[in-house]
Amino acid sequence: MSAYRCPVCEFVFDEAKGAPREGFPPGTLWTAVPDDWCCPDCGVREKIDFEAVGESL
Ligand SMILES: [Zn+2]
Repeated sequence: MSAYRCPVCEFVFDEAKGAPREGFPPGTLWTAVPDDWCCPDCGVREKIDFEAVGESL
């Protein structure tokens, strides 16, 4: 699985962990996250701005 990092606050969305507080259970693929989803920590960056960081951290 892959992980994606916000370029601003370094929040990481890890597909293996999901983001339960955002409503995404563990195992949620990045492709399943809505394109208009914003970073839950800084709320500034949208999904398309996240950077792939490869393997789960
Ligand atoms: Zn952020």
